[in-house]
Amino acid sequence: MEKIQMTTPLVEMDGDEMTRVIWKMIKDELILPYVDLKSEYYDLGLKHRDETDDQVTADAANANLKYGVSVKCATITPNPARVEEYKLKEMYKSPNGTIRAILDGTVFRTPILVRGIDPCVKNWKKPITIARHAYGDVYRNAEIRVPGAGKAEIVFTAEDGTKIQETIFDFKGPGIIQGIHNLDSSIESFARSCFTYALALKEDLWFATKDTISKTYDRDFKEIFEKIYEEEFTDKFKEAGITYFYTLIDDAVARIMKCEGGIVWALKNYDGDVLSDMLSSAFGSLAMMTSVLVSPSGAFEFEAAHGTVQKHYYKYLKGEQTSTNSVATIFAWTGALKKRGDLDGNPELSDFAMKLEKAVTDTIESGQMTGDLTLISTLPRTVKLSTLDFIKAVRVNLDASLK
Ligand code: NAP
Ligand code: MG
Repeated sequence: MEKIQMTTPLVEMDGDEMTRVIWKMIKDELILPYVDLKSEYYDLGLKHRDETDDQVTADAANANLKYGVSVKCATITPNPARVEEYKLKEMYKSPNGTIRAILDGTVFRTPILVRGIDPCVKNWKKPITIARHAYGDVYRNAEIRVPGAGKAEIVFTAEDGTKIQETIFDFKGPGIIQGIHNLDSSIESFARSCFTYALALKEDLWFATKDTISKTYDRDFKEIFEKIYEEEFTDKFKEAGITYFYTLIDDAVARIMKCEGGIVWALKNYDGDVLSDMLSSAFGSLAMMTSVLVSPSGAFEFEAAHGTVQKHYYKYLKGEQTSTNSVATIFAWTGALKKRGDLDGNPELSDFAMKLEKAVTDTIESGQMTGDLTLISTLPRTVKLSTLDFIKAVRVNLDASLK
């Protein structure tokens, strides 16, 4: 077979640890033999981020804005232990945080359902898509460690010098303070992308915050969603036979356990971070979930929702066999190739991406899977494959489908 040609480069962001190992395996086995890959490569591995004072992360995000589509490997977010381990010049911010701050937008995460991997929540019959706001809140906070007694205030100084001021707390002893922000413009584009995505899937949209407690911050989110729904989406939702439903975050968490799925659930940045991990593992595995960041300017960043699988990497380094699930990373590649194909009017590329996805689900449904899935599979016979052997088994199915 002749290799599939590409017209526009894909922005490729390499990463860390086990997912970096998987990245290369996927490229070598499942992409490069079939696609004449045009990519603009950025090495977001921690060592190279340190060498460039993290400039490479911003460069990669800006390339994503320029070309429209990127695929990103999981990366280490440095903490004090990592600073020591990699002898870093400083404790850099989360690369995902940096990229999301540049792209803005919403992260959509959907579980990958396959026969034989049943959700823990027995009434979940259809996927639940989480729409996570990707800007602000705790990810762009300012924090102070309060050394002792004193007054903490929050102050906004307008360009003309006028001030708005509130007391946070009169400290009698040491403590902590955190300041967070968000932007109406970002919340508006978050709302629009959620309504648009729900319409595209023809699924109800739920949104939840804690506006009873956070009477200004969270209420702003609630009101912006309401306004955009009323002004732009009421009729379209009616026509599509779907509904917009707002409730408190704790009520939504309780209700989600009772619903049958088939909804889009919009969440603020932190809620989406936490609940997407809960949801993906309840649907099967952290590695059985797609994740795409959609920016209001129309840029797409495809990634895996899990981390760099550090424990498996240390086993790999010792020469021990690993059985790390590569599905989410493969789907990051297929999502990006499919989007590139659609944008460039290159159906051959989109078709290849869909065949690769089908080869992955067929492989698992035939009983061949990694260890995280054999533990929970309901199929009568399963084989636990190593990291590389799973990818090779996918390749066998892919080759069969391309004949
Ligand atoms: P993790 O990579 O998500 O892995 C946590 C555990 O989940 C693993 O030890 C493994 O459990 C299981 N797991 C996750 N992905 C798996 C896969 N593909 N196949 C099989 N099992 C999988 O989290 P971590 O090890 O705590 O974090 C490592 C690094 O990832 C951190 O430095 C963090 O900053 C970074 N991180 C990056 C991203 C991102 O870039 N998107 C997201 C989250 C975290 P068992 O050990 O029980 O097999
Ligand atoms: Mg998370």
